[in-house]
Parts: sequence; structure tokens; C-alpha cells
Amino acid sequence: MKDAEKDAERVVRRWLTYALESMVAHEQELGLLDAAAGDGDHGATMVRGLRAAHAAAKAANGSAGDLLVVAGAAFADAGGGASGALLGALITTVGRGLGDGPYDLTTTTTALQAGLATITRLGKAHPGDKTLIDALQPFVDALTAQPADQPLIVAWRAALPAAVAGVAATQTMVAKRGRAAKLGERSQGHPDPGAVSLTYLLQAMSAVWDENYPS
Ligand SMILES: [Mg+2]
Repeated sequence: MKDAEKDAERVVRRWLTYALESMVAHEQELGLLDAAAGDGDHGATMVRGLRAAHAAAKAANGSAGDLLVVAGAAFADAGGGASGALLGALITTVGRGLGDGPYDLTTTTTALQAGLATITRLGKAHPGDKTLIDALQPFVDALTAQPADQPLIVAWRAALPAAVAGVAATQTMVAKRGRAAKLGERSQGHPDPGAVSLTYLLQAMSAVWDENYPS
């Protein structure tokens, strides 16, 4: 049990490192996507938020769940704007849900469902509105559909394609929330930057496990 806790804590720290690296690598792409229908700041928001989240977790002690709560709060503070607040709330809510574990599929799925409910409430967005929910909801649904006795790593890998498909589906959607909504149909033709960055966060988790536990 002690080993599993230490392991989960290490995985969360590594995830923040990988997520930050991924967002730095994709900062320009996310900015361009956002500029098509918004103010073009999404890449910068994500990098700023994750830099703060990474630093806050580095300075903190506690369980994997505790680290995510701290990271989410730092993300919201530093990221700023609507997407900073939403993603920060998502990370914090997932951290609270995970608590001290066990860090298995059931606990993680329940924590992510709570996170999805929180950002749905805060963002007042629904599936089909062209937001990060259009990547997160299919992912959470796919994770929920996995056999309960499945190792978390295996279930996570199996659910990832649902997030990627969700991102692709946002290309033809018309934005209903945020700045992009004002542009109406001009928001069509490219994926939602929030759905894209959310999927990078999910993939960063998988990359940590790929490194430690190659499939
Ligand atoms: Mg923006």
C-alpha cells in the first residue's frame, strides 16, 4: 500500500512534467487554433498554467490526490481566463476525488466524472458546444465502459482514442460558448483548442505509463 502511494505520487509529478513539455511543444499550434475563432491565447494560457502547476506540486508534499489539488489551484491562478479557471477546477476536483487512493480504475473514473460535472456546471457548456467537454466526456464515457477489474493503465490506453475522436468531431461543430460563439459558423473547420489541449493532458498521462510500464 505504501509503495502504491509513493508510486502514484511519482506518477502525478511526472505527469505534470510531461504535460508541461507537451504544452510547450504545442503552444504555437494551440495559439493558432484559438486565433481562428478567439483571441489566440490558449497555448500561452496552458503553458503558464502548467508551469505554475508543476512548480506548486514540486514545492508540495502529500498524496497524489493532494498534489493535484495544489496543482489545479496554481493552474487556475496563473492560467487566468475562462479556460484557466475551468481546467484548474477540473484538476483540483479530480485530485479531491482521488484523495489518498486507491489509485485504481474505479476511483479514477469516479474522480473524472466529478471533474466533468464540475466544469459542465462552471462552464455551462454541453456536449456539442465545441469545448473541452467534447473530448473529456467521450473519454470519461469510454473509461466508464471498461471492465471494472481492468488495470487503470490498460483502461486509460483503451479510452484515449475516444478523446481523439471527440477532438475530430469538434471540427464540424459551431462554437456555442466563449469568445468563439460570437463568430458563429466561422468557428467551423478547425478543432476546438480546449478539446485539443485536454487530449494532450490525457496523452501525457499515458506517456508516463508508457515509460514506466511499456505495453
Ligand atoms: Mg483564448
